[in-house]
Amino acid sequence: MQLAMIDDKLVGMDELAPCYLDRGIFFGDGVYEVMRSYNGRIFALEEHMERFANSLAAIEISGVDLNQVRVRVKKAFESAKIENAKIYFHITRGSAPRNHNWDGNLKPNFFLTISEIEDSSKMKEEGVSVSIYPDMRWKRCDIKSLNLLPNVLAHNDAARKGCFDAILINDTGLITEGSSSAFFAIFGKKLQTTPLGTSVLPSITRKFVLKAAKNIGLGIIEESMTVPMALCADELFLGVTTKDIIPVIRFDERKIGTATCGRYTKQLIEEFHRFTE
Ligand code: PLP
Repeated sequence: MQLAMIDDKLVGMDELAPCYLDRGIFFGDGVYEVMRSYNGRIFALEEHMERFANSLAAIEISGVDLNQVRVRVKKAFESAKIENAKIYFHITRGSAPRNHNWDGNLKPNFFLTISEIEDSSKMKEEGVSVSIYPDMRWKRCDIKSLNLLPNVLAHNDAARKGCFDAILINDTGLITEGSSSAFFAIFGKKLQTTPLGTSVLPSITRKFVLKAAKNIGLGIIEESMTVPMALCADELFLGVTTKDIIPVIRFDERKIGTATCGRYTKQLIEEFHRFTE
């Protein structure tokens, strides 16, 4: 007899609810997306769907009907009636007794939540502090995978230090990105950020930030930077779907510029909001 135990309760393996055997739990074997709405309209839905499709393909989860995902997202969004909503969803490879090898016939599991986005206007005005932390992640950070333990450890370390996020530093001393955000610096009239590749998530916010930067006449440098370089920046900011642009006023306990939201960051926030109107 094959047995499972949930806290103190013994259950026959065949009676177990499939969620206990989700490969997402055993192996983090799944991918996710986070999108948001502004004033009752989902922002950049197709960009998120495209990234989701890339993540699914990269971990060889096939047979997902992306149109069905789109329909589910819209249905949940319409039912929730939240103007400024955060929409989280994931697909795991499916449920089966624990085995590293997957069975090609597994049915992927879909899960979604919608919640209200907290107002971040104060954060945008005042800016946030960030800490630094070693980038301990794997070599495919471009995949939005459920394996987030290094990000979770980094983010909790930041929270303990009173910081909004941790900026991850790789083994060669270069900044990759935040544990839950993309990272940007402004030097003079130039915006600098890590180039896309396998070491960072292709952030959707990043894409719109670069567009906004061009619109306001900033030059763009897609090159990694070190911590000493970031400390010399005129302005720093983070990009993340749920909050778009957040100014950084302290980096690893040191003040950036005048420790207020910088002039170009402010302009980028305004320009970004034109895309969301
Ligand atoms: N980098 C990491 C590691 C993230 O977790 C996130 C967002 O959660 C981002 C960057 C920003 O991505 P996006 O702009 O698509 O929200």
